[in-house]
Amino acid sequence: MPPRRSLRPLHLAETIAVGSELLVGGRTDSNSLRIAEEFGRLGIGVRFKSIVGDDRKDIRTAVATAAGRAGLIVLTGGLGPTVDDCTREAISDVTGRRLALRKDAFDALKKRLAEWGRIPNAGQRRQAQIPDGATVIPNPVGSAPGFWMKWHGALLVSLPGVPWEMETMLRHSVTPLLTSELTRVRMRPSPITRLVFHTFGLPEAEVDAKIKGLVKPTTPVDLGLLASPTGVLVSLTTRPSPALSGPRLQRLAEGVRSRLRDWLYAEGSESMEEVVGRLLTTHRKTVAMAESCTGGLIGHRLTQVPGSSAYVDRGVMCYSNQAKTDLLGVPPSLIERHGAVSAEVASAMARGMRERSGVSVALSVTGIAGPGGGTPAKPVGLVYIGLDAEDGRSITKEYRFSGDRTVVKQRASQAALDLLRRWLLERAEPA
Ligand code: ATP
Ligand code: MG
Repeated sequence: MPPRRSLRPLHLAETIAVGSELLVGGRTDSNSLRIAEEFGRLGIGVRFKSIVGDDRKDIRTAVATAAGRAGLIVLTGGLGPTVDDCTREAISDVTGRRLALRKDAFDALKKRLAEWGRIPNAGQRRQAQIPDGATVIPNPVGSAPGFWMKWHGALLVSLPGVPWEMETMLRHSVTPLLTSELTRVRMRPSPITRLVFHTFGLPEAEVDAKIKGLVKPTTPVDLGLLASPTGVLVSLTTRPSPALSGPRLQRLAEGVRSRLRDWLYAEGSESMEEVVGRLLTTHRKTVAMAESCTGGLIGHRLTQVPGSSAYVDRGVMCYSNQAKTDLLGVPPSLIERHGAVSAEVASAMARGMRERSGVSVALSVTGIAGPGGGTPAKPVGLVYIGLDAEDGRSITKEYRFSGDRTVVKQRASQAALDLLRRWLLERAEPA
């Protein structure tokens, strides 16, 4: 590849994740997400991401392709001591910089291994081989050092694949390096801000229709939509340039809030169970659940929140008809008449749970998670959720969820928690 004198802008960043396990469905590339997040804070946007297996030729191709367009290339993985780890060699091939044992890197490696009572073997010795002219990035939490170099108009960084090692080195070494590079080239890109809004209960197409036209094409903000079993996530992401003023971004955020008000349950990183926990605490209410179909998932989610023992009283998982009768007092005749998956049984389960536990509010779920057990009248995905409260309110709702068994359980648990949230807010159901 012909030499290129000037460095391309650093905000044209690209990540390359190396690891065959990332291609075959064994593991997802989370490193690039962390890198994008960290770079966002510096105002550096990731423009391309790629994943390649532990294959010397493929890594070479990925690096050469990136070098044709990026100002900053970050590789993760393939720096290990085993024969399949060949990122170092591939970078050496493509850049023409020869690998040589680097004393500082080897000393650090020996010291680290000595702490574990070991001495370096041939593979580990290879880990201290660094391309000519590259600067070693120390690894304070593992054995494989990383390195960086300027090559073909780009800053090329190579880090280990182990997520916590990658992350530590990113924060300790790469961020300071990039900060000083940005200062040196007098680039002061504005940080990327990402505001996130979580909605539940409105299909993706309807969320899309409601927020349509909110962000004008000329505004340097990307409006994103992401559907999942826990609802539709809406995001506003600023671009590094031209910079958008804080008040203008806040006006857009207000626009999202007012258009989606009835379905918006959280912002930022807050989860539904955290929102519900906060409301239960504020209103000094206690909760119990009777779960068929979700198999304890609602209880699990609520109790993932620290301090939840202040408001979670108990839960029962009742799959058989006998359990519904024994533990909740649901009359066998009711089950016989309407079936276990019915509004009547959901309602009796919630009432039975509240009366027996004495909590402020009880939730119940009964449904068909699939893949078997469905009938034309009661198909897979049919779920009834009940709520019985101390104020005399008794609500039962019918849902028809799509998705596999796991997704139906997730959607049902989210719907139950949302019903509880709405009761806690004493808010009218949206039309
Ligand atoms: P190192 O350079 O630290 O030795 P490696 O790729 O050579 O990394 P592996 O043994 O292949 O080492 O990977 C170590 C662990 O890190 C594995 O569990 C692997 O799945 C994980 N890992 C590697 N790359 C990524 C990535 N991009 N995202 C998430 N996990 C990753
Ligand atoms: Mg690997």
